[in-house]
Amino acid sequence: MESKPWEWPGRYPRATPHFLRNSPDGCLRQSGQCGDAHANASRWRQPWLGLLTAFVAVGAAFPTRAADLAFVETGELRIVYFDPGEKHLVPHATQSFLSGLATHERLFHYVPDGRVNVLLQDFSDRANATAIPAPRNRIFLDIASSNEPFETLSSAEWFAWTAVHELTHIVDNDRANPADARLRRLFHGKVDVDSAHPETLLYNYLTVPRLTAPRWYQEGSAVFMETWMSGGVGRAQGGYDEMVFRGMVQENARFYDPLGLVSKGTEIDFKTGANAYLYGTRFMDYLGLNYGPQKLLAWWRRDADSRRYYGHDFQRVFGLPLEECWRQWVDWEHGFQRQNLTAVREHPVTGYRDLTKKDLGAVSRTYLSADGTKLLAAIKYPGQLAHIASIGRSDGRVTEIKEIKGASGYTVTSLAYDPASGTLFYTTNNNTHRNLEALDLRSGKSRMLLRAARIGDIVYNPIDRSLWGLRLNNGFVILVRIPSPYKEWQTLYVFPRGERAFDLDLSPDGALASVRGPAEGEHAVRRQPEARAQRRAREACARTDEPAVRAREGRRHPAAHVHHGGGGAGELRVLEGWPLPLRQQLLHRRFEHLSLRACDRDPRGGQQRGRGFLPPAAAR
Ligand SMILES: [Zn+2]
Repeated sequence: MESKPWEWPGRYPRATPHFLRNSPDGCLRQSGQCGDAHANASRWRQPWLGLLTAFVAVGAAFPTRAADLAFVETGELRIVYFDPGEKHLVPHATQSFLSGLATHERLFHYVPDGRVNVLLQDFSDRANATAIPAPRNRIFLDIASSNEPFETLSSAEWFAWTAVHELTHIVDNDRANPADARLRRLFHGKVDVDSAHPETLLYNYLTVPRLTAPRWYQEGSAVFMETWMSGGVGRAQGGYDEMVFRGMVQENARFYDPLGLVSKGTEIDFKTGANAYLYGTRFMDYLGLNYGPQKLLAWWRRDADSRRYYGHDFQRVFGLPLEECWRQWVDWEHGFQRQNLTAVREHPVTGYRDLTKKDLGAVSRTYLSADGTKLLAAIKYPGQLAHIASIGRSDGRVTEIKEIKGASGYTVTSLAYDPASGTLFYTTNNNTHRNLEALDLRSGKSRMLLRAARIGDIVYNPIDRSLWGLRLNNGFVILVRIPSPYKEWQTLYVFPRGERAFDLDLSPDGALASVRGPAEGEHAVRRQPEARAQRRAREACARTDEPAVRAREGRRHPAAHVHHGGGGAGELRVLEGWPLPLRQQLLHRRFEHLSLRACDRDPRGGQQRGRGFLPPAAAR
């Protein structure tokens, strides 16, 4: 497999050029370790922390382990990462976030209230990120390569795109007007909501007023910005969002009003919470189309003359109540989609018949059973446990075969089928580190093949009974082959840094492998000559810290590296061997301490809080 240099697709105009900028004093500092991260261990002895945290505190008593955490910081940003596994991502992540911050400074006149702390973490096989603006600015970034399930989202460049999205959450909520800044000084900073102390909700509203705005407001603005700043590539102009609303109009489905959306619409949808993104984005699109993006910025930006409550501020900016404008959007959407449907109906639709009477929800890759009477798939419907099921071709009967622990959102699991032995291979723990399991359809019994091997996108090769898959580690995608009896894997190819690959498949004769990626929509089919693959994998392993345990003597397959399950040299080394949730808990607490330190120390001279608002002239 050879990778082609990525080029900007000619059909997309480039985004407004991001200007890159460093800290005010132009210094980029780096630390190899962070002793402060566990210096405050005595604080952890508070009784409410409970048993789990007690274990965590025990973990903190091993200071030598902390050397694996490192960070890079500028005046406004701190990137925390695991050294050495994630080191290769740091320059790109740093530039992406600096670029995002520079964009937001330009558009929102934004200067962060304390550093924005970003933790690069590898606890999940799912690309994701979370932004938490109070009490300190923190972003948790799961570095796993994205796989764009069913093209529900698309990105021009994953890191830059995520940086803009998550930083929009920070800007929306962290940017303070003079009144907020005064209250932050009074309350010693932004107040987080603590369920044990309900009055904190009021303090939260006084210091971070927009944090109580609904999820659709938060996600709508972030998705709009992610798309705008990526040259128009993103969910705000993506095919999936368009399809959802076209389908709703065609089926005469109910459109929620703003209150209905937050009280019911985001709780019962096909994928919990997705409606906040879909509605929020679509409504923002409508506003951008009719009033221009500058009006949107004026609404999201907490300027000196803005109103504290997002609904009141909507009326100030757009000149009509939010609910009325929402109704206008719904009417407009119906008219727009009816035109689309008319255009679609000009072309004949391929004939089909419904196999099942009821909806199945999310469905995995599907296989025809060896006898041709059934379809085999994994399905996940709201309110039910995800499971592998057979679907009768003649009667449409859905029969549950096996529950799936830790199903993923849209694709449920990665499923492969060996018709000769009647075995279904599938992945569990899809949102943490994936296991590979095998289900014997004859006995109905499952067995664990590889625990936490992080391999997905599995495909069965009937020629030699091997499984092929894509493994994730330290932000890399790695093509692996798992020979029967599936107790170890061989690294065939490591995709270059930052290159995505997903939707793996094999030709029927096993000679060609195909993946989607790295560029938007690209589909590559490439031959895999063994000798060259060996050399490339060896070189790539040296670059990536990918475990390169040598194969045992006398193995039949000549491919490069064999790894015997579990963690390895290049894995997250902190507390190696400890359960993943415990490691995660410990490292998050270390990150909390780090971000607190970053927030407390203001390089601009003593003033600790209230830096959220600077008038445009002073911001430069
Ligand atoms: Zn978001």
